[in-house]
Amino acid sequence: MIIDRIDIIRVKVPFVHPFETSFTRFVERDALLIKVYSEGLIGYGECKAFYGPLYNPEDNGACFHIIKNIIAPAILHKEIEGPADFMAKVAFIRGNRLAKASVENALWELKAQREGKSLKTLLGGTQDEIKVGVSLGIEPTVKDLLNKIEKYLAEGYHRTKLKIKPGKDIEVLREVRRHYPDITLTVDANSDYTLADIDLFKAMDELNLQYIEQPLGEDDIVDHAVLQKAIKTPICLDESIISVDSARNAIELGSCKIINIKSSRCGGLCESIKIHDLCQQHNIPIWVGGMTELGIGRVQNISFASLPNFALLAHDIAASNRYFAEDITIPTVNITPRCTVIVPDETNGVRYEVDEKAIDRLMVSREVIK
Ligand SMILES: [Mg+2]
Repeated sequence: MIIDRIDIIRVKVPFVHPFETSFTRFVERDALLIKVYSEGLIGYGECKAFYGPLYNPEDNGACFHIIKNIIAPAILHKEIEGPADFMAKVAFIRGNRLAKASVENALWELKAQREGKSLKTLLGGTQDEIKVGVSLGIEPTVKDLLNKIEKYLAEGYHRTKLKIKPGKDIEVLREVRRHYPDITLTVDANSDYTLADIDLFKAMDELNLQYIEQPLGEDDIVDHAVLQKAIKTPICLDESIISVDSARNAIELGSCKIINIKSSRCGGLCESIKIHDLCQQHNIPIWVGGMTELGIGRVQNISFASLPNFALLAHDIAASNRYFAEDITIPTVNITPRCTVIVPDETNGVRYEVDEKAIDRLMVSREVIK
């Protein structure tokens, strides 16, 4: 396919409820949408960076620069076979995985349209629907948190994940466990601890957590291996896994027993499929994490989560209206009464279209590159 034009569209979409993690409090999703034009077809990718480099090293400004000034000149008006060929053509760019992934995702959409297949089919998905869990931010009081947990348990979510940070951890978790002794419970520390906190994590072994997500440094592999050997609860690596190489290092060192794959953090779906396959070979369960994405990214996550080794654990793929009053797909993503999401494919009639009118309403700026 020849790439004729690339638009970088900045949108701002308010969150229904502000979302607090160990690193910041989000009030709106400030996102870049990448619209790639090729031979009469249009494919969209969503850049998962945030306004500042608070979660990923890249932020929207960095991604805008890389896409406009480095990626676009490398592919515009050139023949690109597809996503894998694109990744080979931009392999000279070090890092900048979110920027690469956003364009790669758009090329997967173009490939799906050209071949008349769903993304699920192209990626090798085997599941028709996937289980979803809920991820809850840090609340001002334990009572507020218990109320939130109660609400989402009533809705049937398959696992409850709680964000923790120093001072809002073991006592809160003990209280939650006292109220809910049997629920599938996990925690996410977003890298807020060090090996000096090893006794805290040993104490968590009594809480029967399904896993502890990314307790230590955001690029650490070695300290997590030390911690994993000292505790029974499985560690799930999230931020540390940015490529199939980092996954291989983590598996070989014994740094984790579970991995949360965010495909954009790993540079796109091509690299993430390799991580999926590697984890399958090593019996490492995986699940798809969320980055409060809008509909375009959310739907692509659903298709990715249909791969076979994603069958065991619940995913962070909530209904769109949990985050946004207005989203950019028709229909917006919804969950079933079984707290699952149906994977769109050719056979079940589930299809999502990009809502261009909603994008126009939410747009802050548009950069046209041709
Ligand atoms: Mg996480």
